[in-house]
Amino acid sequence: MLLVEDDDGIAAPLAAALRGDGHEVIRAATGGEALRVAAGGVGAVVLDLGLPDIDGVEVCRRLRRAAPGTPVLMLTARTSEADIVVGLDAGADDYVTKPFRLAELLARLRALLRRAASPEPPRRGAHRTISAQDVRLDLDARRAWVGDTELELTPKEYDLLALLVAEAGAVVGRERIMEQVWDTNWFGSTKTLDMHVSWLRRKLGDDANHPRYLTTVRGVGFRFEPGED
Ligand code: CA
Repeated sequence: MLLVEDDDGIAAPLAAALRGDGHEVIRAATGGEALRVAAGGVGAVVLDLGLPDIDGVEVCRRLRRAAPGTPVLMLTARTSEADIVVGLDAGADDYVTKPFRLAELLARLRALLRRAASPEPPRRGAHRTISAQDVRLDLDARRAWVGDTELELTPKEYDLLALLVAEAGAVVGRERIMEQVWDTNWFGSTKTLDMHVSWLRRKLGDDANHPRYLTTVRGVGFRFEPGED
């Protein structure tokens, strides 16, 4: 069991509880350390979202690529639904919100390990979906609709839309988009991003000058309008 948490006040009692529950525990205090340890193979990962070096969401994404079958339980102090959706989309299997009860965390972890030991096919109708206005995404099927019309999106267009809709109402910065959608730290031109935004707008039937969905926030990034509740 790999426990990734930089806060010793949380990590120490949690490690003791995990050991008490019969797990062998390796601790890591940074994302970099976690990825190095995980490369050697671990049974499961308890991963804090707030780490000093690499964001927990990004750590999770890289873990997922390196070891797709390893269960990941996320610890999050963030309670906003968007953060949780982004966390689950990054590949976490479950999450526990801080402050948590040790008994609950251990129970969730046991459930994850059981599922990992006997994988079930995903249940129909249990897909995770997100939406804003009349735009809806099925995160498991990677499909998107505007109203009843399904959008034909390229993988990057889909990822871009998923990120923006997950955070609807908030501005998502260009650098973060480049990092999450293009998986790169981008300090140069973000022309690729602008092109994808313009293609996405065309497919959504949006107007850049009078946007209904996708607003450009000059010098910062983009915001998907949440619409009125
Ligand atoms: Ca932390």
